[in-house]
Amino acid sequence: MQVKMVDLYRAHEPIMEKINEAYKRIFETSQFINGEDVRAFERELGEYLGGVNVVGCASGTDALMLSLMALDFPEGAEIITTPFTFVATVEVIVFLGLKPVFVDIDPLTFNIDVEQLEDAITDRTYAIMPVHLFGHPADMQPILTIADKYDLAVIEDNAQALGATYQFPDGQRQFTGTMGTLAGLSFFPSKNLGGVGDGGAVLTKDPELADKVRIIANHGSARRYKYDRVGVNSRLDSLQAAVLRIKLPLLDEYNALRREKAAIYDELLAEVEEIETPYEEDYAYHVYHQYVIKLDNEQWRDPLHEFLLSKGIQNAIYYPEPIHLSKAYQFLGYTRGDFPVAEHMSQKVLALPMHPFLTEDEQRYIVDCIKEFFANGG
Ligand SMILES: *Cc1c(COP(=O)(O)O)cnc(C)c1O
Repeated sequence: MQVKMVDLYRAHEPIMEKINEAYKRIFETSQFINGEDVRAFERELGEYLGGVNVVGCASGTDALMLSLMALDFPEGAEIITTPFTFVATVEVIVFLGLKPVFVDIDPLTFNIDVEQLEDAITDRTYAIMPVHLFGHPADMQPILTIADKYDLAVIEDNAQALGATYQFPDGQRQFTGTMGTLAGLSFFPSKNLGGVGDGGAVLTKDPELADKVRIIANHGSARRYKYDRVGVNSRLDSLQAAVLRIKLPLLDEYNALRREKAAIYDELLAEVEEIETPYEEDYAYHVYHQYVIKLDNEQWRDPLHEFLLSKGIQNAIYYPEPIHLSKAYQFLGYTRGDFPVAEHMSQKVLALPMHPFLTEDEQRYIVDCIKEFFANGG
């Protein structure tokens, strides 16, 4: 049996006719850029999220970059995030001449450790960038309280968690990406809401910030050939928006299916004592962008990764190297030992196939292979 990490064909096959119809309509008007579908998608996503402004852009990386640009931080401003994330989070901070300051992660959720957050704040700190990693929301209540106390912006990296919710201690539930000052979304094909190419969006409740992001993403121009500030070109195109409009009404179902698959894995893997299955905090509605297991003994991780590949099962290591140990980010001056939890997790984690159309037979085969691996002494 061959099992893919993500099976996009199974996602698109049932909606192919609708996609073809939408493409036909777009080709008829040939409004490929700034077409009606882009505006409609922004409106529909904003409504889904309970009323936020949505500005489409070219990628999740750009969404984070545009969010930071809109806040006009001075050069060298310190932005707090974690070293256990996809590189884009950190890359955009550095690219804009700002300074990433890392805080270690919580070993259960892989998200920023709120207990250590306040220690990282200096008088040069301007923002916190929590990442809702693997689809599990970061612990937003303490993050927002600390941000408020020190007058910091909060930019949520929500690339992996669209549709996830966070429950505040008063019982109120909010979508990830709607709690901070701004948030970045990615529509990379494998994300929970994926297009068929690159795409992203900035979310914000503040209409003025939304306008600013829109201007920056359009070469710094609000009126044709008048430039109010230095901008970039970052657009969501009509063909992507059309696919996203078809998939958005299915997002809740996709996420519910991911949770069902996660529950099946949890149950099947409960007998495998060498493995720890993912954790879900009481405050979280986890949307399992990834299903990430931890190996009790990190020596088994790479051999299990290889063994599963040999059995036709795709699986991946997110992330094999925390950013502070990556070659490109050595200049930040961190060393091994600075973020022990992130470093340890990078040795223990393994992501198993996860998508809404994974079958129970596939999951049983995966878990049987994992059991076979340990039965043979690892
Ligand atoms: C995917 C991802 C991004 C970047 O999104 P792109 O659309 O690929 O540019 C940023 N942050 C995280 C955590 C991601 O997973």
